[in-house]
Amino acid sequence: MIKAVRGTRDLLPPDTALWNFVEDTVREVFRVYNFQEIRTPIFEATELFARGVGEETDIVAKEMFTWEDRARTWMDQLAGFEEAVKRARQDHSLDNVKLYEEFFAPSSYKGQSLTLRPENTAGIVRAYIEHKMWDRGLNKFFSIGPMFRRERPQKGRYRQFYQIDAEVIGPPSSGSESPARDAEILELVATLLDRVGIKGWTLQLNSVGCANDRVKFNEALRKALEPVVGKMCADCQRRAVTNPLRVFDCKVPEDQPIIEKLPRISQFLDEGCRKHFEEVQAILKVVGVPYIINDRLVRGLDYYTRTAFEFTHGALGAQNAILGGGRYDGLSEALGGPAAPGIGFAIGEDRLVLSLAATAESVIRKPDVYIAPLGAGMNGEAARLARELRRHNLVVELGDEAFRLKKSFEAADKIGARYILIVGENEVKADAFALKHLASGEQVTVPRGELAERIAKEH
Ligand code: AMP
Repeated sequence: MIKAVRGTRDLLPPDTALWNFVEDTVREVFRVYNFQEIRTPIFEATELFARGVGEETDIVAKEMFTWEDRARTWMDQLAGFEEAVKRARQDHSLDNVKLYEEFFAPSSYKGQSLTLRPENTAGIVRAYIEHKMWDRGLNKFFSIGPMFRRERPQKGRYRQFYQIDAEVIGPPSSGSESPARDAEILELVATLLDRVGIKGWTLQLNSVGCANDRVKFNEALRKALEPVVGKMCADCQRRAVTNPLRVFDCKVPEDQPIIEKLPRISQFLDEGCRKHFEEVQAILKVVGVPYIINDRLVRGLDYYTRTAFEFTHGALGAQNAILGGGRYDGLSEALGGPAAPGIGFAIGEDRLVLSLAATAESVIRKPDVYIAPLGAGMNGEAARLARELRRHNLVVELGDEAFRLKKSFEAADKIGARYILIVGENEVKADAFALKHLASGEQVTVPRGELAERIAKEH
């Protein structure tokens, strides 16, 4: 038997009802905050993530699904050329230069390294640059889709998982740098979690400063690490040389007392960054979003600047972050674009669903009515009625004339329908149908024209 690959899973009904409930709610919240959907490809050039996430991050160093897309062979090349000649003949537009290019274009020989997206910020910023979206001023995007990381699978951690992303990005003139944007994003997340019914979340907040602060901080960190790094795990020893900030990502228990004593970025914030952070906090207080400061929080991406945050939830155990995010003011430039300050977050949808108090049962919309055709020739009549009722937005399940009445009742019961509607020859003649409320057993005869209204009414 072929099974789903380790770290991937099937999402089945009725659980998918919970996923849909989450996504519908999230879309509603994004709508009132004036965010618009963006859909980018699920694979991109590997270089995008190397530059956009950072070579030294665990994601890029160890966790990406990367492959070499094969170069075009001479045979592909020839086929492409033949195709171009055919097209040119059909269109009577023989363009020798174009044909020459088709045949010799060096780019068509090249293979390319591709990667399944491990996160979506880099892809969205790439799209922002590619489509010159600074012309639109401030962009507020959201997207929902699968991400891929080759991590060790465990509860709440998968190799294909789903993220709900939001990004606010635009030229500095659009106000994209303002602490008001950070506060708005954080308040949005709080609203979103409340609306889907997550109780007891904690917002952990930090500022990781800007490039200037980072230089001074890295220096201090390197100095502080020098005498102790020998006692730390192999990953930390590597990080201490390549990117000391990443030491704060370390989860090895023995290393924690050492990390606790290291200097913190909060001691190195320049005037601008400190003011920005204070303003974010001031707005949060006004709008009443509670938070705690966690000055160890550095987040997994290299390009984070200033505000960094995570929302955690106790019910999740070791993988307790429902979502993370932050500001990435230098990312666009790192990807070859113009200055475009931005801030965003990614909710782990799998974990969000895991921490929901609601059950699939409570959000699923059960059938309003089960239509039971009774006797030969009744399938068509039943289908006609179903069509009419569904036009009224009622959830209708259809039986089969081959079923005996008892079997139809059992089927209606099993799917949790509220009513059963009997469609037999006599009913069709009278154009009025027997409608039975399953919970109370109450039965009435209802003319065709009144059925929809009757069924829609709560019993
Ligand atoms: P990150 O991009 O690493 O900040 O992740 C953002 C959120 O995505 C995390 O807070 C998790 O909720 C979720 N997430 C990250 N990696 C995984 C994974 N392997 N499986 C499930 N959820 C994940």
